[in-house]
Amino acid sequence: QPYQPWLNNYPDGIDYFAPIDTTPVPERIARAVKTHAERVALDFLGKETTYAELGEAIDAMAGALQKQMGIKKGDRVALLMPNTHFFPIAYYAALKIGATVVNCNPLYTVSELTHILSASDSKIIITLDLALTFEKAEALAKKGLCEKVVVAHFPNALPTLKKVLYKLLKSKDLSKPDTSSIKSQVVHWDDLANANDVADKVDIAPDDMAILQFTGGTTGLPKAAVLSHQNIAANLSQIDLWGLDLFRPPAGLIAVLPFFHIFAMTVCMNTPLVSGVKVVMLPRYEKLPLLKLIARTKPSIFPAVPTLSHALATAPEREKYDISSIKIGISGGAALPSETKELFAKATGGRIAEGYGLTETAPVLTCSPLYAPNKDNSIGQPLPGTDVQFVDVEDPKRFVGPGERGELVAKGPQVMPGYLNNPEANEEAFVNGYFRTGDVGYIDEDGFIYIVDRIKDTIICSGYNVYPRAIEDALYHHDAVDECNVIGAPDEYRGEAPIAFVKLVDGANVTEEELMTFIKTYISKIEMPREIIFKDELPKTLIGKLSKKELREEYAERSGQK
Ligand code: AMP
Repeated sequence: QPYQPWLNNYPDGIDYFAPIDTTPVPERIARAVKTHAERVALDFLGKETTYAELGEAIDAMAGALQKQMGIKKGDRVALLMPNTHFFPIAYYAALKIGATVVNCNPLYTVSELTHILSASDSKIIITLDLALTFEKAEALAKKGLCEKVVVAHFPNALPTLKKVLYKLLKSKDLSKPDTSSIKSQVVHWDDLANANDVADKVDIAPDDMAILQFTGGTTGLPKAAVLSHQNIAANLSQIDLWGLDLFRPPAGLIAVLPFFHIFAMTVCMNTPLVSGVKVVMLPRYEKLPLLKLIARTKPSIFPAVPTLSHALATAPEREKYDISSIKIGISGGAALPSETKELFAKATGGRIAEGYGLTETAPVLTCSPLYAPNKDNSIGQPLPGTDVQFVDVEDPKRFVGPGERGELVAKGPQVMPGYLNNPEANEEAFVNGYFRTGDVGYIDEDGFIYIVDRIKDTIICSGYNVYPRAIEDALYHHDAVDECNVIGAPDEYRGEAPIAFVKLVDGANVTEEELMTFIKTYISKIEMPREIIFKDELPKTLIGKLSKKELREEYAERSGQK
């Protein structure tokens, strides 16, 4: 039977049964624009956009998309751009007229984007005139995968001085591309923004499709998770209920994570912007610019994947910059090593709240309490209105009890209705009305939840389940270990054996043998890796999570050659 132990132990002041506001995001943005008109909504390398300016730009683009581009309710609009003020404008304008936003990662290859554009049946692509993004949009347009390409002029995202300097840049990816090869399909953003069209009002229902978010590319083709307006809106309200007064002006937030990823879309863009919080964008993670940006803009909220929090907390240059404005780091996307949590607190004086979720859940399902104690290594408790259960991995129809390991399944207003046009995947994705996350973990008597690992990453050694995360945690305890990642490899004796990959801290010197001896105190014999391989860099996904896929391929190749 479902079991809800958090009910007796929920943080003070938070009502698990509180009504969840599902007012669609465009309406909430319009409200924020009115309430916070004079406040700064966005800052990109010093160029500021106020809430009033954001609202005007959204309305102008919504009008133009509807009247000039013929975008109707239900049409799909692909966004192919990194973070600048253009992103939220295009995103909210499309949502306002009832279109569905298809988020595309600009670092995807043309073949990956081909799948996304055709599976989503996108009508237009909105992009920037950077070679990096435009050349991909151009290739897609030439293949007939969209009708039009809307191109925004990237330097317009910069403050005046940087605009001048930009002209002198010689970087190929940043150069202004020639748009003539698809001339008949190109529409300039400025022409749309200046067209003075006013959009006819479009009614949006909670079940209407807001976002198509592609996920799961590591095995086969990515699937399109359908996120409804309710899913997106509910998660904002749930985060707000959990975070109490965290997202309130004059708070500022650093958005270094890309908005096209679900974590940043909800936590770095939608949540702050419906609340009047300032969003400070950085085009990509670089240590020094990030430190300087924090010192200049004094944000209080720093959402990040664990590798990024770790990099900030250990950057040798951090002593030179005042990063003490950070009150809270919001960690998500991957397991947060306890080391990182402590280092972050030491470096900033703030603390980390760890959230857990997936693309399919818009994304946050659980979070560590912000104003009450968390339990060590727990990802906290379910957000209001979220039911989290564990089921038998072999027999998912059977719920397992407290303390027993199983697959985490979840129900709630933020859980997607399903994948687009994919009955087979949908059949597998739900059990007893709960969404199956593919993560193994357990819940304790007080309703605190623990993630042990992903089911697919579990290594079976001599018949025992070995979870790479336990080995990674042990390695992270060593001061010389900067990043590590563990995979399973075929083993003659044990069936499978763990292989650890380690990136050492700059200048550190430690041998494989020393590390093996060190981790013996943390893990059992059966979990000991067969080998520790040192590397200068570890592969990461496009949002910065450590990735096992490339390591598996590399190791298989290496072993094949032996
Ligand atoms: P994605 O849909 O790409 O955001 O990936 C979701 C997956 O990230 C989840 O299924 C988890 O395996 C992992 N994940 C996210 N947050 C956490 C967390 N706090 N701890 C452990 N794993 C996490």
